[in-house]
Amino acid sequence: MKKIAACISLLLSILFITPLWANDAPADLYKLDRFSVVTTKIADDVYVIMRPVSHRWPVQTNVIVIVNEKDVVVVDGGGLPPHAENVISEIKRLTSKPVSVIVNTHWHQDHNWGHAAYRRHYPEVRVISHEETRKALLSNNFLKNLQDQDLQTRIDESLVRFKEGLVEEEENGEPAESLARTRDIIAGVPQVYAAQNEATDGLADETFLDKVSLYRGERRIDVMFLGRANTNGDVVVWLPEEKIIATGDIVVRPTPYGFGSHPKEWVEVLNHIKALDYVALVPGHGEVQTDTAYLDLLIELLNAVVERTKAAVDAGAADMDVVREAVDLSDFDERFTGGDPLLEALFNSWFKRPIVGGAYQDLTEAE
Ligand SMILES: [Zn+2]
Repeated sequence: MKKIAACISLLLSILFITPLWANDAPADLYKLDRFSVVTTKIADDVYVIMRPVSHRWPVQTNVIVIVNEKDVVVVDGGGLPPHAENVISEIKRLTSKPVSVIVNTHWHQDHNWGHAAYRRHYPEVRVISHEETRKALLSNNFLKNLQDQDLQTRIDESLVRFKEGLVEEEENGEPAESLARTRDIIAGVPQVYAAQNEATDGLADETFLDKVSLYRGERRIDVMFLGRANTNGDVVVWLPEEKIIATGDIVVRPTPYGFGSHPKEWVEVLNHIKALDYVALVPGHGEVQTDTAYLDLLIELLNAVVERTKAAVDAGAADMDVVREAVDLSDFDERFTGGDPLLEALFNSWFKRPIVGGAYQDLTEAE
């Protein structure tokens, strides 16, 4: 449990303290409200609500909205309260029917801090998740630790740190887009930190272990645990009639996340998803996918992680740091980051480093 807690706190400290980089965001997009969202219809009565720049700081989940005869089912309601409120405004623009169920795909809080807002707007709403997701949220004191600190001090200290970073970037002659991203983060600190102070943990009301099917008139909505992947309790939402799948962070584009993950089982889950023969895949972050090209790339990457970690251990590497040093994944850099140095940094710190740790841990636990 200690290991899980350490992993969680590491992820969260990175999620909310380290700058996140937009994927080549045109500067104009930074003028938009940070939590603004756009809605795309992907099938009759099925919508995806996402941010115009998915990796703008702080990252917030894609939201899937399924409008039924009498109610609405939502997959991953939203992140921080202002994001969730904007999503709810969009849902109300789409339909006057109430949201009755929110499926929470996994524990990362940028996928579930918005539940409190839903409970205000839709008092009857129920939140469902895998049992492991609820457990992970319960064992995590991230929010409490943040809220125990004085908000203004936290803002002031962060601003000093980020501004120093900006000066350094300027001195180093970093590209204009990189400076624009850092300035965007500095501009957002007071709003984002205040929003964190208003957030509450998004625990589920009901949990399951394997599968739940929701029947709504002609429509069936399958909520399935396909195995451990990005987290211990990832679930996918599958619409068999429309052939649409929402994956949570089992799939994230352009660069995946790899904290507390199980790469070998993750490959099996991805193969299962692929075999469903979807027409649209909605990832946890990034654009909707209508083919399997990115899925195939992800499978190739995770297989490489597993094989190379095993090779390093077989060659005598006996602790996690040595293994991390020995496993080289740089042949994937260009294919995931397109050579963008900021995405490369993200790929290194959010995926490569933690995922090799996960592969090593799974290997040693299996012995
Ligand atoms: Zn996420």
